[in-house]
Amino acid sequence: MSRLIKKILRASFFILTSFSILAAGVPKAAAYTNPITTLRIGLCYEGNGTAMSTLKLTNVVGKGFIFGSFDASRKFVKNAVTGAQGLSSIDLNVKNGVLVVTNPSNNSVIYQAAADAPTIAIMPVDSGTAKSVTGTNWSYKYYGGFEVTALKSGKMQVINVVNIDDYVKGVVPVEMSASWPLEALKAQAMCARNFVVNHIGSHGDFDVCDTDHCQVYAGTTFATANSDAAVDGTAGKYVLYNDKPCTTFFYSSNGGATESSENVWVTALPYLVAKFDDYEQSVDTGKSSWTFTYTAAEITELLKKNGYSIGTVTSITPTYTSVGNILSLTFSDGKTTVTVKKQEAGNILCSSALGKYTYSQRFTITGSSSTRTGLFINSASNPLESIFSTFATGGDGGVSKVAVDSGKISVMTGSGLQTIDSYGSGRTQTGDTFVVNGSGWGHNVGMSQYGAKAMALMGKTYEEIIKYYFSGVTIG
Ligand SMILES: [Zn+2]
Repeated sequence: MSRLIKKILRASFFILTSFSILAAGVPKAAAYTNPITTLRIGLCYEGNGTAMSTLKLTNVVGKGFIFGSFDASRKFVKNAVTGAQGLSSIDLNVKNGVLVVTNPSNNSVIYQAAADAPTIAIMPVDSGTAKSVTGTNWSYKYYGGFEVTALKSGKMQVINVVNIDDYVKGVVPVEMSASWPLEALKAQAMCARNFVVNHIGSHGDFDVCDTDHCQVYAGTTFATANSDAAVDGTAGKYVLYNDKPCTTFFYSSNGGATESSENVWVTALPYLVAKFDDYEQSVDTGKSSWTFTYTAAEITELLKKNGYSIGTVTSITPTYTSVGNILSLTFSDGKTTVTVKKQEAGNILCSSALGKYTYSQRFTITGSSSTRTGLFINSASNPLESIFSTFATGGDGGVSKVAVDSGKISVMTGSGLQTIDSYGSGRTQTGDTFVVNGSGWGHNVGMSQYGAKAMALMGKTYEEIIKYYFSGVTIG
C-alpha cells in the first residue's frame, strides 16, 4: 500500500489507542509552562516502513528553501547554501550514501551533504506576510522545517520540526471531525497537546510519530478555520493534575459509562475514574448498540488461537465493574476454566475472520440455555436478573430509578432476604450459542469524543467537558 493511501486510511477514522500510564498525585490549581515549544515529528522512517526513496518538497506559501541544521535547542541555524532560495520545489535523493538536493526543472545539484554528514535541515522561506507551508510528494502539507537523514538502506528519514500549536493544528482535524462544535474541538486540542508534551524525546530520533501509534498528524492538510480556532483558543493551556500535564486518554464513545484505568489496563489514576455518561445519548455515535452471536465451538477456537488450553466451552461467567462494564469472563468446558480480565475480556471475543468485534468493554453475554434466575416480580416467568435500568415505587408513590452505584440490592421475600447484583456479576451463562450485546467504541478511559460533541451542542465549554471526563483536574 502506498504511503498516501495509508495516510488517507489513517486519517479516516477516529483513533483508539492506549499508552503506558504515568504516576500522579493530588490536584492543585496552577499554570504550567511547557519548556519545549518546538517539536520533532517523525513523518517517514525505517521503523514503520515509510522511509522515502525520493522526496520532493514544494513551498506552497512563500518561496524557496534554505539549508543548515537544528541546534540543541531545536533552533534552525542556516548555512551558506543559497541555490534553492528562488525555487518553488526541490528534490532529494540518496546517492552513494550521501544526501543530494536537486532542482527539479533541470536536475542540477543544488546542495550535496558531506559524506560524513547524513543529516540536513531544510527550512522553507516565508512570504514575509504569511507563514510558509511545504507540500510533499505524499500530498500532505506542513508548517515548519524538515530534518532529512540518509539511511543505510539508501532511503531517507524525514522529521518535521514544528511549533507545538502548529502541530496540534495538524492533529485535531484528523482525530476529530473539523466540522464538530468548537468547544468539542478545543477539548480534543487539549488532549492532543497534553499527549505530545508527555512524549517529548520518547520516540528515538523524534518526539512522536504521525500515526495512530502516537496520535495521527497530517500537518495543515485537513485543517479548517474551525479546527485552527480550537487550537488558538486553547494555546499554551494544559490539563493538569498535581500541577503537571496528565495523561488525557480519549476514545470515540463509551456506550453509557467511562471506566477506571485499572479496570482496563493496570494502574489506577485518580483522574481516570469510572462514571456514568448520559451525554452520548443525545447524539448518534454510530455505535450506540451492537450485537452478534458466537457458537460455543467458535469461542473455543478463539480461546485456543489465543494460547489457552480448553475443551468445548459450555459456560461463560461474566463479572462487571461498578458501572456495568465487563471486568472478567470465565470460560468453562465443565472441567477446566479460563479467566480473562479487563481489556483482554473484550479482545478475546473479537474475530476478524468472522467479522465479530466487541468495540468496547461495555457488553453483556447471554447463553442460549441459561436458566433465568433472580427475583421474580409479580410473575414467575419474569425474573429480575439485574437492577440496571430498574425502577421502584417508593412509599410516597413516587417512581425512581434504582441506584446501581452500590453494586447490589437486597429484597425481603417470602423465603427470606435475597440479594442481586447490579448487572448480574457472577451469573453463569450456559448453552451452545452466546449472544453478545454491547455499546460504545473504544477503551472507555477518559474523554468520549461523541460525549464531548454532545456536551458542546448543549452549550458546555471545553473546560466543562475536560473536567467532566478527567476527575479533579485543573486547566492552566
Ligand atoms: Zn509513535
